[in-house]
Amino acid sequence: MNNFITQLPQLLTLKEKIMEEKEVEVFLYRLETIHEKLGGNKYFKLKYNLEEAKKQNKTTLLTFGGAYSNHIFATASAGKLFGFETIGIIRGEEHLPLNPILSHAKNEGMKLIYLNRTDFRTLKSEDKKAYWQEKLGNDVYFLPEGGANIWAVKGCTEMMQNCTLAPDFICLPCGTGGTLAGVSIGNPTSKIIGFPVLKGGDFINNDCNVFIEKYFDFFSLSKIKTNFELITNYHFGGYAKSNLELKGFMQSFYDKYQIKLDEVYTAKCIYGVYDLIAKDYFPKKTKIVIINTQRML
Ligand SMILES: *Cc1c(COP(=O)(O)O)cnc(C)c1O
Repeated sequence: MNNFITQLPQLLTLKEKIMEEKEVEVFLYRLETIHEKLGGNKYFKLKYNLEEAKKQNKTTLLTFGGAYSNHIFATASAGKLFGFETIGIIRGEEHLPLNPILSHAKNEGMKLIYLNRTDFRTLKSEDKKAYWQEKLGNDVYFLPEGGANIWAVKGCTEMMQNCTLAPDFICLPCGTGGTLAGVSIGNPTSKIIGFPVLKGGDFINNDCNVFIEKYFDFFSLSKIKTNFELITNYHFGGYAKSNLELKGFMQSFYDKYQIKLDEVYTAKCIYGVYDLIAKDYFPKKTKIVIINTQRML
């Protein structure tokens, strides 16, 4: 798992008039370039889970997600690459033809099981492990929805280790907050700014703090001070919601840098950073790194 990275992440300078005007430097840390199918934050979230699954002699990875889950996509890819069977429990009914995420998962050998929304909600959490092991056998390694657990947090503490500069601010989009927790622990001298992509993302504050607490407990490490903040008003209506403003932003970003942004996550975060620069959120002369958490699109 360690030496599968095919290319180190690149640091791209983002040059816009507003940055010159406000005297800040902005960089995109391109995690999507590290691997064709497993690029982005999902590699870091899975890394120690795969090691743990191997240690426990598990043969199958079991996980949960909606039909558009990047975590489902990544788990299927990782299973294929590292020799695990994979089972994906998908929220809702099957829709044919399968969308690109699920058809990729299926091509990688993932077995897809559909659950109605109510059952999905009650059966996806860590404490339902025993239920699934009884149903599917003891060989199953349980990964919660979104893949956020203590091993994922540990992996994310390493996310910035190939970044060649020490930023004042690190910005990233958030779903569960697991990545935010890991990046906060791994980079205590930077201020970390999380952009929830869902409405009412304030709950991530608590979840992220719980992940951080658990991390130091679980690995018996002495606590260090972390410094993160959530900016909750760039969700564009909620999870997977979008509008013409965001689509226009993605198009102009593509025209300028030839990078296709993920509409659910990174587009909202980068839009938010640009807007905060315009609103003088960042002090002059600061260095801002935005983590491109997505895979290559
Ligand atoms: C999954 C995902 C996230 C969210 O990560 P969390 O650890 O759940 O907060 C962010 N960006 C992209 C592109 C993702 O696929």
